[in-house]
Amino acid sequence: MTDRYDLVVIGAGPAGYTAAIRAAQLGLKVACVDDWQTIAGEAALGGTCLNAGCIPSKALLETSELFVQARDHGSALGLKFKGLGLDLSAMLAHKDKVVSELTRGIATLFKANGVTFIPGRGKLLLNNIVEISAKSKSQIEAEHVILASGSTPVNLKSAPFDGDRIVDSQGALEFKEVPERLGIIGAGVIGLELGSVWRRLGAEVVLLEAQENFLSMADEQIAREALKQFTAQGLDIRLGSRVLESKVEKGAVTVRYQDKDGDHTESVDRLIVAVGRRPNTVGLASDDNRLLLDEWGFVHVDEHCCTNLPKVYAVGDLVRGPMLAHKGMEEGVMVAERITGRETTVNYDVVPSVIYTQPEIAWVGKTEQALKAAGIACRTGVFPFAANGRAKAMGQASGFIKVLADSSTDRVLGVHLIGPHCSEVVAPAALAMSFGASNEDIMLTMFAHPTLSEALHEASLAVAGHAIHMAQPRRGKS
Ligand code: FAD
Ligand code: NAD
Repeated sequence: MTDRYDLVVIGAGPAGYTAAIRAAQLGLKVACVDDWQTIAGEAALGGTCLNAGCIPSKALLETSELFVQARDHGSALGLKFKGLGLDLSAMLAHKDKVVSELTRGIATLFKANGVTFIPGRGKLLLNNIVEISAKSKSQIEAEHVILASGSTPVNLKSAPFDGDRIVDSQGALEFKEVPERLGIIGAGVIGLELGSVWRRLGAEVVLLEAQENFLSMADEQIAREALKQFTAQGLDIRLGSRVLESKVEKGAVTVRYQDKDGDHTESVDRLIVAVGRRPNTVGLASDDNRLLLDEWGFVHVDEHCCTNLPKVYAVGDLVRGPMLAHKGMEEGVMVAERITGRETTVNYDVVPSVIYTQPEIAWVGKTEQALKAAGIACRTGVFPFAANGRAKAMGQASGFIKVLADSSTDRVLGVHLIGPHCSEVVAPAALAMSFGASNEDIMLTMFAHPTLSEALHEASLAVAGHAIHMAQPRRGKS
């Protein structure tokens, strides 16, 4: 007899494990199938996010930034270090420890909530039977199935991964020595974050970006400031560069690429390819199921993450929308709650995005250029961290916060940030927008002093023309 569950989740990344835990909290009998294996061949929960994405990259970003702060900025703050150095293997060991503690934490949560974890590869068969391939094959039955198999890096024909010299983002978290010269194809989120890590540790970093526009998904004013700051840090960002071929020879990679000035070659010790990720749909469902994909290859879902198959849902990187862990988690919770009769929805208009560089970049809502293109008139307020007491005290007073409010309704439509700890400062902006705040609502909120969040308050006051800590043209009463 096959085991029968109320819910089987395929994939234990942030979207899948969150769905499994929430469904179990709501009283369902839940199993979660996942095929992730560590280098040692052990099963590990948490998917890309915990094992090879958000968490390990942030561990390296944190420690490499501490190193730069001490090395380059310590003396200005009155700190002297003798013999400051880098122990890369200890840095990597810290990252691995954080990952292993967190992945084991998910296993503990599964146990505490009664979620059955089944290591192996899951495949949806007809009638919500899930086939599991591990050492042997087995089957379980489910009332409901959530597909949460995530995504994997795009492999380029002109620079195929070899796992050694040409690597994906996971390989780039494991370099055993700092490359002298590092090439990165793609100046997107991963290229900038991992490029920053290795630049801080001493590598010369060249980023080849196909688009002419830098960070086209961000507000243009933020993207311009970011390009200026990253260039000053020594990230050599070459826009409009199309890679033609890459050759690995004698421990180096030669990359041939084209830009508006013609063909060029670049020789690097290591090459990271970070040109986006694609959804893991291969072998996820049997052909006779006819699981519908959209035109970009994602599993087709409606706003509640229902697929075209009855009682089958899909969440996270596998479906449309930004490939972000928190977006997947909210979808996981929504589906678990809807299965149990609740009316939960996800507010896709308020998904915060963060790039964990220095300065950090964050935003929520619409960009100024998108509002312009849509013909929506907005009022803008910008406040620089140079006028924020806390940022000055930290010695990190570059960047600014920009608030966009609808000209006719005053509703906040977008908040864009570049500066210290903006990953945290974006949270009150997202909270306000979730409640449909007007700019005046933020203006009337009291922020603690001295905090970085005060720059959000001041940017909001600037929309109305009366920031306190910045001179603005006199407009009369408002
Ligand atoms: P995944 O995390 O990819 O998990 C899917 C799981 O399903 C995996 O364990 C996979 O092995 C398993 N699986 C796949 N197919 C099957 C199958 N058939 N059977 C069983 N198991 C299967 N996002 C952020 O929000 N913030 C960040 O700071 C951030 N940093 C990132 C840094 C890097 C370097 C990378 C690569 C990504 C980062 N992301 C970040 C993106 C984030 O990791 C993803 O959006 C998130 O992991 C997606 O979650 P998911 O559950 O949909 O899929
Ligand atoms: P991305 O979409 O952020 O950036 C890819 C970049 O590569 C783009 O700028 C694109 O124009 C460029 N590109 C594409 N093809 C190219 C080519 N042939 N040659 C040169 N450039 C090319 O994707 P990513 O950086 O690979 O990250 C993948 C996903 O992971 C993203 O969707 C992101 O949301 C997620 N992620 C999030 C975080 C975070 O939240 N902080 C961190 C890392 C990754």
